Order: sequence, then C-alpha cells, then structure tokens
Amino acid sequence: TEQTYIMIKPDGVQRGLVGEIIARFEKRGYKLVAMKLMQASKEHLEKHYEDLSSKGFFNGLIKYMASGPVVAMVWEGKDAVKQGRAMLGATNPLASAPGTIRGDYCIDTGRNIIHGSDAVDSAKKEIALWFPEGLC
Ligand code: ATP
Ligand code: MG
Repeated sequence: TEQTYIMIKPDGVQRGLVGEIIARFEKRGYKLVAMKLMQASKEHLEKHYEDLSSKGFFNGLIKYMASGPVVAMVWEGKDAVKQGRAMLGATNPLASAPGTIRGDYCIDTGRNIIHGSDAVDSAKKEIALWFPEGLC
C-alpha cells in the first residue's frame, strides 16, 4: 500500500470545498490516516515548494499558500500517489478534464485549490515535513 500527501490550499478552504474534496477520496476507497487545519508559515511553505524556488511565480505562490489556513492530509491505499494526481487534474485547471477536482472547481493556475504529491519519494518527504508528529 502507498501513502500520498494531499493539501487543500487556502482558496479551497475559503470557498468551502473541504467536504467535497474529502468525500471524493473517501468514496474512491482511500483511507484518511492524518489530517489537520493549519496556518503554514512562509518558511514552512518555502521548504514544501523548495524545488520551485527559482521560478518567477515562487514569491506569489508562497504568498498565496500563506494567505489562510490549509488542510493537510495523508491518504493511504493502492497507487495513492498516481491516482491522487489523476483525481486532482492538471496544474493548469484549464487543461484539467471535467470530473477532476481542478477541472470541476477552478480556472486559475495560481488559485488551483489543491496540492498532491507527484512521486512516492516526494510524498515521503512531504508527509515528514507536514506531520513531524507522525500519523494515526
Ligand atoms: P502542486 O505541487 O501544488 O500539487 P503541481 O504539482 O500540479 O501543483 P507544480 O509545478 O508543482 O504543479 O507547481 C506548484 C504550484 O505552483 C501549482 O499548483 C500552482 O499553484 C503554482 N504554479 C505553477 N506554475 C505556475 C505558473 N506558471 N503561474 C502561477 N502559479 C504557478
Ligand atoms: Mg507539484
């Protein structure tokens, strides 16, 4: 079995999409093994997105991600990382198929409501960063 780090971004929380997003993972058959609502610091978010630090949108991304609380979650089940990414849709919501979370609920890359780990090793790193206290 596999675990992935899924995070509802501040706009997803503010728009009231937390329940809808959790329901999709539950109904698909994934198991929730950790969850918390938290206001992340810029330093913490810079670590989370450290691979993107050279990008022109990096400062805007950190500001967006620090603009309100996020819902940090770990979901567990078969092929969770790849299936989670498929459920999210593409980075650019306009390239996301209807039926995906981004394809159904947003239209801006800079306000794309949800994060999902892109590989098993990044999932491990992200879970350790967001849940240093461990899982359930
Ligand atoms: P995430 O890591 O948040 O799940 P992703 O893996 O689909 O998204 P990344 O390339 O890792 O995409 O980019 C991280 C986030 O940075 C994107 O989800 C988006 O919010 C933001 N981002 C990416 N590219 C751009 C861009 N060109 N302009 C503005 N924001 C961007
Ligand atoms: Mg990414």
